[in-house]
Amino acid sequence: MTGRGNGSPAPSEDSLSCGRCGRPFPAPELDRLLWCDECVATARATARKAGWLAGTGLAAAFALWIALVQQPSRLVMGGWVGAVLATWWLGGRIGRELCFGVLRFRGRPR
Ligand SMILES: [Zn+2]
Repeated sequence: MTGRGNGSPAPSEDSLSCGRCGRPFPAPELDRLLWCDECVATARATARKAGWLAGTGLAAAFALWIALVQQPSRLVMGGWVGAVLATWWLGGRIGRELCFGVLRFRGRPR
């Protein structure tokens, strides 16, 4: 968003190679872990998918446990549905952050 438009990117001493794909970029275009925008976007997309899967799996397991073990009556069904949705949302978020963290960590060269 910011930090752009201050001169044209010229290949010079302050150009660094991306920690993931290895392509050279001007230093300001790389982030903290020296990843280019494209690599960060790719990792984000992968993490989003993995997080969504993790959340869905977790919510499905939780729903199964509720159905088999709790066997809720109609009266409290709404609460359980809410709990499953919360698990799905939270599990998805946590899964995504975890996956993104792992991707970022493993992507570091040495
Ligand atoms: Zn890259």
